[in-house]
Amino acid sequence: MLEQPYEYVARPLVEPDWRRLPGFADVTEQEWRSAQWQRAHCVKNLRQLRGVYGDLLDEPFYADVAADQAGRATMSLLLPPQMLNTMVPDRVPDPAAMRADPVRRYMLPVASDRLPGPLASHPYAARDSLHEHEMWAVEGLTHRYPTKVLAELLSTCPQYCGHCTRMDLVGNSTPAVEKLRFALKPVDRQAAMLEYLRATPGVRDVVVSGGDVANLPFKNLEAFVAGLLEIESVRDVRLASKALMGLPQHWLQDDVVAGMTRLATTARARGVSLAVHTHVNTAAQVTPLVAEAAGALLAAGVRDVRNQGVLLRGVNATAPDLLDLCFALLDGAGITPYYFYMCDMIPSAEHWRVSLAEAQTLQHDLMGYLPGFATPRIVCDVPYVGKRWVHQVAEYDRERGISYWTKNYRTGIERDDDGALDRRYTYYDPVHTLPRTGQAWWRARGGWAGGGDGAADLAAASREASLVD
Ligand code: SF4
Repeated sequence: MLEQPYEYVARPLVEPDWRRLPGFADVTEQEWRSAQWQRAHCVKNLRQLRGVYGDLLDEPFYADVAADQAGRATMSLLLPPQMLNTMVPDRVPDPAAMRADPVRRYMLPVASDRLPGPLASHPYAARDSLHEHEMWAVEGLTHRYPTKVLAELLSTCPQYCGHCTRMDLVGNSTPAVEKLRFALKPVDRQAAMLEYLRATPGVRDVVVSGGDVANLPFKNLEAFVAGLLEIESVRDVRLASKALMGLPQHWLQDDVVAGMTRLATTARARGVSLAVHTHVNTAAQVTPLVAEAAGALLAAGVRDVRNQGVLLRGVNATAPDLLDLCFALLDGAGITPYYFYMCDMIPSAEHWRVSLAEAQTLQHDLMGYLPGFATPRIVCDVPYVGKRWVHQVAEYDRERGISYWTKNYRTGIERDDDGALDRRYTYYDPVHTLPRTGQAWWRARGGWAGGGDGAADLAAASREASLVD
C-alpha cells in the first residue's frame, strides 16, 4: 500500500495525570473538576510556578521566564492548572521537555524563545495591529465588516496567551506594555452596544468576546445575550471562550449549563444561531474534560462549537500537527475546526509568525483529509481589511515579504472613502524568513521597532504601511 503524507489514526483523548506535578500531587478529582479550585490555583507569577514544578525545572528555566516577563512579554502570566497540565502531558516534565513543549511555547514564553535584537519585532509591528479601536462604533464594539460586529465585553481572561492579538487591552500591564483601559462602566458599555445594534439593522452577526466571556459573571453574559436575542436583525451570535479549553470546568458548572440551556432555547425559538467559538492550538490540549464541556454546550442546544486556532511556529505550524489537532477536536470533542489565523503583527512575535508562503503550503497540505465542513481555512487578518484566505493574495513580493490584498467592502471608518475598494493593503512576512537580499532591504530601511515602546508612532507607521496605492 502506498504511504500517505499524513496517516490518520483515531486516538482516544487522555486527561494527563496532574499528580505527576509536585504542586498538584495531592489534588483530588473533585478539586480538579471544580472551576473555583482551578481559578484559585492559577499560576500568576514565578513563585507560584515554582510551587507547581519545584525542582523538576531548573534555575536557568525559571530565570528565562523571569527575564521574559521583565523584558519583552506583552502578556502577564495566568495559567490555570488545567492548562499547565497539558504541558509535557505524558511524563514527569524536565527542563528540556518543557522548553520544547508546544503549549509551553505559547502559554509560558521564555526570553530565549524570542528572536534576538531587532528581529524580535517586525518594523511595522504595533499594538492593536488590526486597528480595532479605530473601528469602535461605541466603546468595545468593532464594526469592521458590513454585516457583523465584534463586541468586546471585558478585558480579562481566565488564561493569558503569549501571542494575544488584543495585547494592548487584554490583561494586566507588563513592563513592556501599559494596557489601555475601557472608560465606560461595563453596564453602560453593554447598553451602548445594544443601542447601536438596535439602530443598525444591517448588522446580523455578533461575536461576543473580550477577553474571554468565561470571566463575566454568567448572569451578566446572559443579560447581554438575551438583549441581543431581542433584536430582530441579529441572526447569529457567537460566544468566544478559550476557557472551553483552558478552564473547561467553568462551562461544566451547573448554573452555567442551566443558563446556556435557557439562552440556546430562546435562540432556537427565535431562529437565531447561537454558537461557541474556542481557541485550541495543539492536540494535547483537547482532553476528556474539554470534550465533556463541549458536549455539555451542544446538549444545552448551542448550534455548534467551533475552533479558531492561531498558526504559531514551534507550536502547531506543521501539517501533521494541525491535522492531529483537527481530528482530536472533531472526533474526540465534537468541535468543528474552523479557522487558523496567521499570528498578528504585534510586538515581539516574530519567532511565532510564519510567512504567507508557509501558510499557503500548510493550507494545501491540510486539504482532503477532513470533511469539507471541518477543513479549517488558514486566514490572514489584514489590517484595515479583515480575514482573507491565504490564497486570496493579490500580489506577493516574496523577496521582501510584502503581500498585497484587496477588499470588497468598506470598514466602519471608510463609509465616505471613495478609494477604499480600489486601494491595496499590505501584510508583512517575518523578516528572518526572507532571503538574504530581502533581509538586507529591510535592514537598509532602518527604523526597527524593537519592542513595545512608542505605541502611537508604531500604530501610525503601521497605518501608513497598511495603505498603499
Ligand atoms: S484567551 Fe484570547 S483574548 Fe484572552 S489572552 Fe488568549 S488570545 Fe487573548
